[in-house]
Amino acid sequence: MLRRLGAEPVEVRLPAQLDGLDGLVIPGGESTAIARLMRLYGLDDAVREFGGPIFGTCAGMIVLDRDHLGLGDYATQRNAFGRQVHSFEADLDIGDGNGPLRAVFIRAPWLDDAGPDVEVLAAVDGHPVLAREGRLLVAAFHPELTDDTRVHERFLNIVREETARVGLTERARAKRPAALPASGAGNVRA
Ligand code: GLN
Repeated sequence: MLRRLGAEPVEVRLPAQLDGLDGLVIPGGESTAIARLMRLYGLDDAVREFGGPIFGTCAGMIVLDRDHLGLGDYATQRNAFGRQVHSFEADLDIGDGNGPLRAVFIRAPWLDDAGPDVEVLAAVDGHPVLAREGRLLVAAFHPELTDDTRVHERFLNIVREETARVGLTERARAKRPAALPASGAGNVRA
């Protein structure tokens, strides 16, 4: 889906593969297994330091929460819709004026106890299932399983915004006279 929208996705398995990426997607699966493997390969610290936009879906949303990587200011309730409810579909109002979004939930979590910077974009029975917090976008469902590209487009917009913002900061920094060390960099030679 990301390719269809003009992005060039690559697989990330090792910390060094994060270098130079404009964004990161942490997909669904089993959050316990993903968290364990990330720790094993040092990807947990690498993702914490990544600094770019991150899109977490389902287990990916769990991995980003306060109790795992700690990047999102929210908790998650795993298998929140009930263990027996293995999967279901729902029409979500994502408030973009373009009609409901069909969403596929598979042993899905929901978002709990969100901090003040978490913007809830959609909910099921009052429980947040799509949210944005700055450079993070999290979905409790699997937007890659339908043809609706709106959630991925939203993520790519965050990537564009962040790339533009960081680009501006870097350009501003590059214009600084070379003889003036940046604050805190007292050992920089002119
Ligand atoms: N239930 C899974 C977990 O808790 C998430 C399911 C999914 O990613 N579809 O990790």
